[in-house]
Amino acid sequence: MAKNKGISRMIVPLKLILSLSFYFILAVSSACAKESFEIKRNRMVENQIIARGVTAPHVISAMKKVERHLFVPDEYVKFAYNDTPLSIGYGQTISQPYIVAYMTEILELKPSDRVLEIGTGSGYQAAVLAEIAESVYTIEIVPQLGERAGELLKKLGYKNIEVKIGDGYKGWIEHATFDAIIVTCSPINIPAPLEEQLAEGGRMIIPVGERYVQQLVFLVKKEGKLIRMKVMAVSFVPMVDEKGEIY
Ligand code: SAH
Repeated sequence: MAKNKGISRMIVPLKLILSLSFYFILAVSSACAKESFEIKRNRMVENQIIARGVTAPHVISAMKKVERHLFVPDEYVKFAYNDTPLSIGYGQTISQPYIVAYMTEILELKPSDRVLEIGTGSGYQAAVLAEIAESVYTIEIVPQLGERAGELLKKLGYKNIEVKIGDGYKGWIEHATFDAIIVTCSPINIPAPLEEQLAEGGRMIIPVGERYVQQLVFLVKKEGKLIRMKVMAVSFVPMVDEKGEIY
């Protein structure tokens, strides 16, 4: 009997030690995972973004800061820092990191800028923009994606991003005009409302063209006129209306 009592007296601290070490291992492994994501993210920025010619320090630091692995579905977390777009469900994709950085850099954002994004998708591009600009207004036509992105961005503490569910072809008249507009889905022609909602001196980057291959077009509004420049061939998902018809 006396022997059993001794054993049970030992079991209590043993249990405590075991459960404490369990939480310790859990904390250490999650810190290691976070660190390994950071290593992968820094490598992504070096090899995919800086190596391809992106130089703007504000873009480089935003790309190093925003955790792309939080914006992709669980099954793709291990590919989050690869040089590729990834599926985010509903037939849509999160853009390749280099394209996100390139489109952000070309907009030459200032800390006081107000930016409109068409095609919220995962919310990743919006987060990158929000690290640099004063405010980001982003529109997504698929309600489930818009809601999911809105919740995630809120959870991550972004107070300068507003997400709206709706058709971005029409822009966001209540908040117009914008210093910069970034379109991450592709219409066949540039939507007139977006041209109108660009401020004087404003910049727009938009993929324009047919279903699988488009030209990324950069526009600047000077004295009310739009100056256009084609910058590279790209492949984006189409811009659609609320019935799913391609614009
Ligand atoms: N910027 C996103 C990538 C989005 S992919 C990211 O960082 O993850 C393009 C998105 O545009 C898709 O989610 C698609 O549903 C959306 N889209 C297509 N047509 C649209 C429209 N008319 N208005 C708003 N969003 C649209």
